[in-house]
Amino acid sequence: MPAFYEVSYNEDGTIESFLPNNPNARPQVKKVIMMDMTGSRYPMKPIVPYIQTVHDRVVLELFRGCARGCRFCQAGIIYRPVREKDLEALKAQAIEIVKNTGHDEISLISLSSSDYSHLNALASYLTSAPELAHVNLSLPSLRIDDFSIELMSKVQDVRKSSLTFAPEAGSQRMRDVINKNISEEDILKGAYEAFMGGWNRVKMYFMLGLPTETEEDVLAIAKLGQDIVNKWFTMPGDMRKQRLQIVLSTSFFIPKPFTPFQWMGQASSDAFLEKSKLINRNINKKNIKYNSHDADTSRIEGVLARGDRKLNKVILKVYQKGARYDAWSEHFDVALWNDAFAESGIDSAFYNERTRELEEILPWDFIDVGVKKSFLHDEFLLASQGETTVNCMEGCTNCGAMCFEGGICYARKA
Ligand code: SF4
Ligand code: SF4
Repeated sequence: MPAFYEVSYNEDGTIESFLPNNPNARPQVKKVIMMDMTGSRYPMKPIVPYIQTVHDRVVLELFRGCARGCRFCQAGIIYRPVREKDLEALKAQAIEIVKNTGHDEISLISLSSSDYSHLNALASYLTSAPELAHVNLSLPSLRIDDFSIELMSKVQDVRKSSLTFAPEAGSQRMRDVINKNISEEDILKGAYEAFMGGWNRVKMYFMLGLPTETEEDVLAIAKLGQDIVNKWFTMPGDMRKQRLQIVLSTSFFIPKPFTPFQWMGQASSDAFLEKSKLINRNINKKNIKYNSHDADTSRIEGVLARGDRKLNKVILKVYQKGARYDAWSEHFDVALWNDAFAESGIDSAFYNERTRELEEILPWDFIDVGVKKSFLHDEFLLASQGETTVNCMEGCTNCGAMCFEGGICYARKA
């Protein structure tokens, strides 16, 4: 309730104080979470629409939270700690929901599904249970380092779709900065195994404008694409009958609250465009297709991601000017936003391009997500030194989420 908090500002527009003005409002509001995911209510009879929808299938959630700790990722922090659902409960839910809906596909969802500790057992069950004989299994978010032909071979109709991986950065240095603990060797090995498993279409997602990024890091995205193409040609000729298609997609990095990069400035739209042009000039277009996200929408997303209550008037103005469904590119008009910022006397760069001081009071500091600000701070410093941090499956780095008294924080570490 913003009305219960009084904000005063310094002359430079940063927050001077953020205090409750109501005796019932706490200085910090703590996140409430469901710890027992197995016992939590799950929609067993979801509505089945008459028309075909995007997610026209049974969706089975394996766990909440993510153990990985990628430093750009807000979901990986705010949904801590990992809370897995029991294997037997998932099996029973799958059968029950298929029976109730008549769907012929089950999708396993979670932030990093391949980290589910019983994934192999679950996939084996879902592809062999007689009650699910007509049902396909899909695994949407795999990590390339965990790529397992055995697991993927359990997924029927594999050749219908392309494989999607998200290394997020092209160079090892950059992946260490963002704590994406995956090596080039893992990526190339994963791609090779995918090719040997029959896939010829691979999509890879990257971010541009990451903290400390250099031209070399940007060019490494194009090089990684080419290295994957080269891997394809190391396969025996009879395995290469189909045409290879590699799609490299880049989005622009948007620093998010509650992440170790929450203090960082975002690159300008012009800088983003230069980076994507650099990749475009350096890819081999014969086997590689390159897509890039729009720089103007990334700028507005960046402003809103770390905005404060002063942006209310901008949002109202842009709405009054006719902006609707701005996430759809055909509706997005950056001129409306620029006018709304100008008329409100707000400099958008203050919100997205400005690097914050580590001591600055941030508009979201009054929300306690469990993970301590000091942990984010330490991670920020490690990132600037290119140092990585172990994930919650390997060890505990005392982020603060133990305060919820359960989940992976209390599980035996590898
Ligand atoms: S694997 Fe990384 S990017 Fe994906 S949800 Fe986990 S922390 Fe976020
Ligand atoms: S307290 Fe430790 S195990 Fe728990 S979420 Fe934080 S780092 Fe992971």
